[in-house]
Amino acid sequence: MTGRGLAKALTFVLPPRLLQTMVRQALEECPSECCGLLAGRRQPWGWAAEDVFPLVNELKSATRFRSEPRSLLSALRLIEHRGLDVVGIYHSHPMTEAIPSMTDLAWRWADGVADLIISLAEEAPVVRAWSLGERDFEELQLTIAQTADEVG
Ligand SMILES: [Zn+2]
Repeated sequence: MTGRGLAKALTFVLPPRLLQTMVRQALEECPSECCGLLAGRRQPWGWAAEDVFPLVNELKSATRFRSEPRSLLSALRLIEHRGLDVVGIYHSHPMTEAIPSMTDLAWRWADGVADLIISLAEEAPVVRAWSLGERDFEELQLTIAQTADEVG
């Protein structure tokens, strides 16, 4: 991991209800990877998620994911309709740590969109948030809170 100097880590605010939906989906689709989108708003300090859109992993793979186009398009349409932006994309790692893989770097979604990974490798699911670059990645401060107002 390469840091960006002394800059303070950006924060990703995730409401508990959204976290529960993501973890439940990861467990249900295990041993395949699950995937989905988080919609919300960009903030000067990072991102605030407001809604979650589980997608269909058409690869049904334990090590890779690719969203089935129809579920992706309908999610994007709903997000736009609600006046929100895609702030995060998430997927699960059924057997490995919640750290981006080389595949994740190669298939990163876009600049300015956070990557959340749910690991099922340990007994309790672990969720971590990342900002992916072309060759490196940086961990975000993941804050489980209802609204951005709770961020100090
Ligand atoms: Zn991955």
